[in-house]
Amino acid sequence: MSIYDERPWLRQYPEGLPPDIEPEHRNALVMFRQTAQRIPDEPMIHYFETPLTFREVDEITDALAVALQEQGFRPGDRLAVYTQNVPQFPIAMLAAWKAGGIMVSLNPMLREKEVRTILDDSGARVLVTLESLWDDVARQVVPETEVESVITTSELDFLGDETPAVLAGSRRSRDESTSDLMELVEAHRGRTPETPDLGPDDVAFLVYTSGTTGPPKGAMNTHGNVVFNSQAYREWMPTEDGDVILGVAPLFHITGLIAHVTLGFLTGAPVVLFYRFDPDLTLELIERHHVTMTVASITVYIALMNAKTIGQRDLSSFRKTVSGGAPIAPSTVEAFQEKVGAYIRNIYGLTETTSPSHCTPPGTRAPVDDESGALSVGVPISNTIVRVVDEQRNDLPPGEVGEFVTSGPQVVPGYWEKPEETANALPGGALHTGDVGFMDEDGWFYLVDRKKDMIVAAGYKVWPREVEDVLYGHKAVREAAVVGIPDPYRGETVKAYVSLVAGESVDEQALIAYCKERMAAYKYPREIEFVDELPKTASGKILRRELRDQATAEATGRS
Ligand code: AMP
Repeated sequence: MSIYDERPWLRQYPEGLPPDIEPEHRNALVMFRQTAQRIPDEPMIHYFETPLTFREVDEITDALAVALQEQGFRPGDRLAVYTQNVPQFPIAMLAAWKAGGIMVSLNPMLREKEVRTILDDSGARVLVTLESLWDDVARQVVPETEVESVITTSELDFLGDETPAVLAGSRRSRDESTSDLMELVEAHRGRTPETPDLGPDDVAFLVYTSGTTGPPKGAMNTHGNVVFNSQAYREWMPTEDGDVILGVAPLFHITGLIAHVTLGFLTGAPVVLFYRFDPDLTLELIERHHVTMTVASITVYIALMNAKTIGQRDLSSFRKTVSGGAPIAPSTVEAFQEKVGAYIRNIYGLTETTSPSHCTPPGTRAPVDDESGALSVGVPISNTIVRVVDEQRNDLPPGEVGEFVTSGPQVVPGYWEKPEETANALPGGALHTGDVGFMDEDGWFYLVDRKKDMIVAAGYKVWPREVEDVLYGHKAVREAAVVGIPDPYRGETVKAYVSLVAGESVDEQALIAYCKERMAAYKYPREIEFVDELPKTASGKILRRELRDQATAEATGRS
């Protein structure tokens, strides 16, 4: 008997969505608006201690959308958001939608070159940024882009009387060449924007993901994708009255966007936001707000388990604990359950599947594959078909290892202005994930390898090519290959193999420092090994895989 026969609630929706999701819910803005009408005075966000209600957010975003339209922002225009996890993130996104536009998310760890690439590719006209990120990074590159209007804001807005200890070092630093978000809101308060009709095929946001070749690509998550997977989280967490969401996943990433922000829009569950992750503060906020649920990378759960104050906190409300984005060791799940009393459910998906395509159903425990020791990533969620195929794209029977190819209402239609990359990754609309694994006889999926070279370091995705590009910028570097090696805390970490130009020299620490200056902190190589020649195929292609296997064997031997 398959898992589906045993659990009739793992149902398919013949109409595309569950019957209680009304047809008007066809865009994510309506999802928010209906909840704002239903429970206007309930908190939508707790920013540290301070609540912000649905009504307040509705009014603020109306005003901001009017301001955007007055600045010339038109339907279909892109608005980029470059912040930590602060209320201004969902506020900017809602305002962009109310003005008929598309949100583009930027990881606050990105440095100048990385920010410039995304602003250029998306053609963003407006940038909403924290003042600190404007000062440190964005102001250097924005003048060279199509951005016409910069709106700055501060993590010190939306706080009550007390400044949380983690923000003690924050200062206001308003640059007169930019507009302040709250000043714009006050200047337009009470006005409502003309919102064009947004349909399920309209793009809600662009979330950038890199790849084995070429520059980062903007996955076009449509309103239809977002509505479907917001309800998927509602059903599969499941979300009920009284739930409170811990907003710990970065909001710029698809998991934070769907599992926190738009799930909150749909269900009315408040989201606790707290700038950026700090284990002891997170535990304090779970206790204070009686947080019930979250989706977080496994490194977050490991950090919580090992935090100094874990024994002093009442975490009894924190029971719907779900994790995705990186492999999970079954021993970590056991250790967390012993310490906190909650079972971590594995979930799997990609930016291109608007967060989950698979989930461990509530009330079940994911099985572990005897041979590989892999914890199952769950079963495909409703209306989602996942094939396991060989190199010739033939379907494989249960138990055989191949690539996952995913179709469903959450799969993006493509990448922003990249028809070739779209045709390669999504032939016929089915996503070739680059993830390799199998399905067992009961319908559980296991991921055992990756076809792609991606490295997952502390939950963040690092694409070797991006790091190699930076290394090639150094005058002493002749050739470079970047691989992931096992790391006890980060899961994997970044190692580079480098050969040098004859007559040039650079040492490991200097080259690491060079990289660190030029890329987000999670990407730079933690280890560099100099070699005379990199291994290559007969045609001259660097054998990254061979280096990865060698580095992994060495790293495993060391630990
Ligand atoms: P992203 O687009 O950043 O969400 O990254 C998606 C990739 O993360 C997938 O293609 C997988 O390689 C990896 N991934 C996601 N969920 C899991 C999981 N539960 N276990 C292992 N790897 C995962």
